[in-house]
Amino acid sequence: MTVNEITGIIEAFAPLGYQESYDNVGLLVGAQQSKVNGVLLTIDTTPEVVNEALERDANLIISHHPLIFKGLKRLTGSNYVEKTVIKAIKHGISIYAAHTNLDNIWGGVSAAAAKRLGLKDISILSPTTNQLVKLSVFVPTVNAEEVRLAMFNAGAGQVGNYDWCSYNVEGTGTFRAGEGTSPHVGELGKIHLEPETKIEVIVPKPILGKVLKAMLSKHPYEEVAYDIFDVKKPNPRAGLGVLGVLPSSVDEMEFLYQLKKFFKTGCIRHSPLTGKKIKTVAICGGSGADFIGDAISAKADIYITADIKYHQFFDAEGKLLIADVGHFESEQFAIDIFYEVLTKKMPNFVVLKSNVKTNPINYL
Ligand SMILES: [Zn+2]
Repeated sequence: MTVNEITGIIEAFAPLGYQESYDNVGLLVGAQQSKVNGVLLTIDTTPEVVNEALERDANLIISHHPLIFKGLKRLTGSNYVEKTVIKAIKHGISIYAAHTNLDNIWGGVSAAAAKRLGLKDISILSPTTNQLVKLSVFVPTVNAEEVRLAMFNAGAGQVGNYDWCSYNVEGTGTFRAGEGTSPHVGELGKIHLEPETKIEVIVPKPILGKVLKAMLSKHPYEEVAYDIFDVKKPNPRAGLGVLGVLPSSVDEMEFLYQLKKFFKTGCIRHSPLTGKKIKTVAICGGSGADFIGDAISAKADIYITADIKYHQFFDAEGKLLIADVGHFESEQFAIDIFYEVLTKKMPNFVVLKSNVKTNPINYL
């Protein structure tokens, strides 16, 4: 298989369009058409991970954090990023990253932790705004079902936990085929009336191209009439962090000890205990300080995230417990997501989880 084919499987699950504006996801080192012997999964790409890839004969590294985040102006091996890139190129190893696109999608990094923690009724903590469009397309009624199905299969029509959602109105389309056309129905130069169905579906912008391609591939007309409108409401199926509930309430200290074991972390830094039991849990893998307010608004009893600064712990104000479990620890399940997505589509291909401990933070 090629790099392109394998990373295409990841992108079908976590389209690149879901990344945040500051991010740098996708293929960072290597060529799309290179043949892949094996895949190595990691949270971070370091020279040690490249060594491991060489030892285990895996020439595609898929990581959560992008090795190259800002631009590289020179490659002299003066820091670990440059060293890693040089080593990878020298040995023909490709490096790919799925970062905030893997955080923002439904079933992403935070949801993976939530599911493993046993949370139920999972929803997005901070849904993405300005991301939905409404696509309206006019199709001959006899072809409506086929076109509708093609759009659904490409991911259109998801409203909350309902899929295959559309609105359909039957009417009459008119057109007159001009010179140089070959109309699907009707005759050149004659006004034609055709029973048509207007199909409306919701589409997230990151997959709009895929949905349009699917729609156009099944639409019989030479010139397809369709409109795209921005929808001014958040996308409840995409965004950062998740919210869920525990099967039963747990004492705060007891839950913190459970979390320490669950995340295999050397330390949990937390805000003062609130005196309440834990039932509703908010989680955001990685640096989630920006969403403390969302966790409070959602009436979460605890907000599990990482990289909380001193003053940000004050924001809890006794309303909830903030628990900083460590950045690497909070995102460790990204590797399992990659593994599940890839092995489901290519069960006989070599997909390895890295044994290198890349977490740069140690606890005394
Ligand atoms: Zn991270």
